[in-house]
Amino acid sequence: MITVDEARARLFELAAPLPEEEVPLAEAAGRVLAREVTARRDQPPFAASSMDGYAVKSAEVELHAMFKLIGEAAAGHRFDGRVGAGQAVRIFTGAPMPEGADFVVIQEDVSHSGDLITIVNEPGTKTNVRPAGVDFRAGDTVSAPRILRSADIALMAAMNIDRVPVRRKPVVALISTGDELVMPGEEPGPDQIIASNTFGLKAMLEEAGAQARILPIARDSVSSLTTAFGLAEGADLVITIGGASVGDHDLVGQVAEDLGMERAFYKVLMRPGKPLMAGRMGGAAMVGLPGNPVSAMVCGRIFVVPMLRAMLGLGAEAPTLSQAPLAAGITANGPREHYMRAQIGTDGRVTLSGNQDSSLLSVLSEASALVRRPPNDPARGAGDMVEYLSI
Ligand code: AMP
Ligand code: MG
Repeated sequence: MITVDEARARLFELAAPLPEEEVPLAEAAGRVLAREVTARRDQPPFAASSMDGYAVKSAEVELHAMFKLIGEAAAGHRFDGRVGAGQAVRIFTGAPMPEGADFVVIQEDVSHSGDLITIVNEPGTKTNVRPAGVDFRAGDTVSAPRILRSADIALMAAMNIDRVPVRRKPVVALISTGDELVMPGEEPGPDQIIASNTFGLKAMLEEAGAQARILPIARDSVSSLTTAFGLAEGADLVITIGGASVGDHDLVGQVAEDLGMERAFYKVLMRPGKPLMAGRMGGAAMVGLPGNPVSAMVCGRIFVVPMLRAMLGLGAEAPTLSQAPLAAGITANGPREHYMRAQIGTDGRVTLSGNQDSSLLSVLSEASALVRRPPNDPARGAGDMVEYLSI
């Protein structure tokens, strides 16, 4: 058996960055920017008023000063003339500053009569002018890689970037295996349960940037598993769930190898999730997750999400752990790295879930963290710091 870190290192060898593709800006949110992009223009492209008011010469601005109005500048419509001594141009937010003016007296500080205005409140020193290029200049860049957030989309729009180079989404095929499984919404027989793992994993992996496909459930037979692997053709990553232990009906490893899978490892020193396998199958990576629902979800988080991030060009790194104090003492850990379901309280302290059985989705659903216990970690007391992964 290998350690969690060793297993992840071998998985990264199966997870090379995918090629880039171009998408319309409106579809780029959540995607990974593949290379830096460059602003095509200055923003603002001209010195612009940041307020509604009157554009004048700053040297003339003082309480009770009077100006003669000579025209108007609105957003999208500049004033073509020049502001001379004693003159003002009515101006609105976003309008280009007229030549000769370098100060906007806000309209609240002005009284207006005919074509004359008078400054009636102390105007202060703020010019209310946004210099050209104050936001960004042509040639400024948005760095990559990064997961594009709404703010990045707005910035690229302002930069006039209408098509965005992103990493292709990893295509993941998800195969549940087991004679006992039916799909949600179907009528299970007396000995059957609902396949939950493929659905939980699809949600998890799509949140991480993949495009996941749930294939028909494979039965515990060589022919059914062979058919399922055939349907996974074209995926970057093929994930099976269940059938990876050493029981008589655990055929996944055997069938995958018969189909040419080169095994990278089998079994990891981890709880939950010992019977994890992985390898290369043609052009795809193959990961065999354990069937127990919590094991499958924890292995998805600890192993598959980092693989997807590597495929998306975000780097080959273990998930980032945080630290928090324990609310109550815990017993020593055994020889396997243990990922324990836990809740982080409003006081920031960690409470382990009462039942750590790897079949309990209700416990996982209430958990907000996985506490990582290193192999043979000694007993810990209340207040001791532990590492955890937010989920
Ligand atoms: P296995 O690894 O196939 O022996 O499965 C271990 C346990 O996980 C068994 O109780 C299975 O019924 C259950 N199991 C396997 N696959 C799934 C799945 N896709 N959804 C829910 N439970 C599953
Ligand atoms: Mg099974």
